[in-house]
Amino acid sequence: MARIAVVTGGTRGIGHAISIALKNSGYRVVANYAGNDAAAQQFQADTGIPVYKWDVGDYAACEQGVAQVTKDLGPVDVLVNNAGIVRDAMLHRMTKEQWDIVIRTDLDSVFNMCRLVIEGMRSRKFGRIINISSINGRKGQMGQTNYSAAKAGMHGFTKALAFESAVKGITVNTIAPGYVATEMLLAMPKEVLDSKIIPLIPVGRLGESEEIARAVVFLAADEAGFATGACFDINGGHYMAT
Ligand code: NDP
Repeated sequence: MARIAVVTGGTRGIGHAISIALKNSGYRVVANYAGNDAAAQQFQADTGIPVYKWDVGDYAACEQGVAQVTKDLGPVDVLVNNAGIVRDAMLHRMTKEQWDIVIRTDLDSVFNMCRLVIEGMRSRKFGRIINISSINGRKGQMGQTNYSAAKAGMHGFTKALAFESAVKGITVNTIAPGYVATEMLLAMPKEVLDSKIIPLIPVGRLGESEEIARAVVFLAADEAGFATGACFDINGGHYMAT
């Protein structure tokens, strides 16, 4: 029986590419999303991948979502914590709401989703958890104390859970993408991208979502059992150049 994979934020951007890549690799994939019903319905129609709406920052909503997926398809073998948002502001202008919603969506979500699948993975002695962090959780970024803190928090969480889970056949890794051409990034003014971001990337371009998805497929495989507690930097050389 094909393994079951849940991709949070799996209907748009990087998650969209991850969902399709896992499906093409033989997984039974579920794509979660938050509120953009039109994009989700279009994604489901285009790909045949079922979509499930819940807020990954809300523990009770995750509990219901995971229970529904388990009822409909079966227990989760592969969890990709990809959903994420930004609410950028310099700290001296950041509101408590901007801080809270980013921590809740980008970091609490990782606890919420992992907590709800980890017991099943332990009892079945198999699991793959892949957390999509960011280069800005590695190096920090102006205007992103909230986002950098959440994404750096993912790395510590990943290593601790990888330690706890290693003997149970469960691997836990982060992927830290650099700048990838999705709606989240393209919301940035083009002149800022061209003058301030792309010159910092040695390969001279933004990444493509499919280039992140390739690494997810690698880490999700049954054969990837020796890769755990690691952070995979995929950033066109940007991090090495900082
Ligand atoms: P997009 O904004 O393009 O897509 C985000 C996806 O996450 C959507 O499917 C969205 O659902 C979903 N989502 C957002 N909030 C929630 C929530 N509370 N509950 C459930 N789903 C939610 O983002 P990207 O593809 O650009 O980013 C994906 C991940 O990659 C993020 O974690 C981001 O931090 C990380 N990343 C992105 C980089 C980039 O350059 N793009 C660089 C480094 C890291 P809906 O459609 O309903 O809004």
